[in-house]
Amino acid sequence: MTNAAMTADYDNSTEKVLSVENLSVSFNGEPAVVDVSFDIRRGETVALVGESGSGKSVTALSILQLLPYPIASHPGGSVWLGDTQTVGADHDLLRSIRGSKVAMIFQEPMTSLNPLHRIEKQIGEVMRVHRGIAASEAKPKILELLNLVGLQNPEEKLSAYPHELSGGQRQRVMIAMALANEPDLLIADEPTTALDVTVQKQILRLIKEQQIRTKAAVLIITHDLGVVAKICNRVSIIHSGMIVENQSIQGIFKRPKSKYLKALLDATPRYDKPA
Ligand code: ADP
Ligand code: MG
Repeated sequence: MTNAAMTADYDNSTEKVLSVENLSVSFNGEPAVVDVSFDIRRGETVALVGESGSGKSVTALSILQLLPYPIASHPGGSVWLGDTQTVGADHDLLRSIRGSKVAMIFQEPMTSLNPLHRIEKQIGEVMRVHRGIAASEAKPKILELLNLVGLQNPEEKLSAYPHELSGGQRQRVMIAMALANEPDLLIADEPTTALDVTVQKQILRLIKEQQIRTKAAVLIITHDLGVVAKICNRVSIIHSGMIVENQSIQGIFKRPKSKYLKALLDATPRYDKPA
């Protein structure tokens, strides 16, 4: 697949899967994210790019209301998943959305793995609940996914508990689980920073292929403009908790506006041009 095909223009009239509107987040009354807005349509990949501490994870966690409330609060704004508002939504509603319509790949895999269940059961359960795949038919699909995310000896790992795996292996299992779900919205918070370069590429390709197949909306959080250039349609640049730039992928490289983006481009090899 060419880069052009991977980042082909989507139809502007396509339904919005996620709409973040003027969202603010404070911790103990101190603002961390201020007035952030962006949206993602079906089949579109949007990158949220910013330096460490700029508010990327806080923004992502707000979508499913996973922040430590009431230390965290939202002085303003809303988050829409289709026509469901998540900011301030009750626990039952949020639980039904988490892991069904929306899947998240975190930096810390243990937050999404159940320590009490073997790998085969965890992934099989996701396939059964969200895609109606019977336990008896799930095994080859689970093995295929575990292979695709680059887990060594996947057959052996099926009967392992999360604590029996290394950090890198857990990361791969978590990614497999998020993909097994085939969500409407996939949020990947620096999904590959802990993995080696070959596996990183493989996983990004996997996310992209699934997205094309399932027409999911994808939010990728990264500081890697190489990732952005390869698989994203649009980019929001966040700096000190505020969006300083919202652009198409072409605009990011051709007409950078913010000082932060210009500095980032200066510090990165050119990904938009062949070497
Ligand atoms: P990043 O862009 O690296 O993902 P974060 O979104 O994690 O940055 O953090 C943004 C800001 O919010 C940082 O200044 C951080 O200190 C603050 N912050 C994040 N989580 C908490 C928390 N649980 N309590 C207090 N402050 C927090
Ligand atoms: Mg972060």
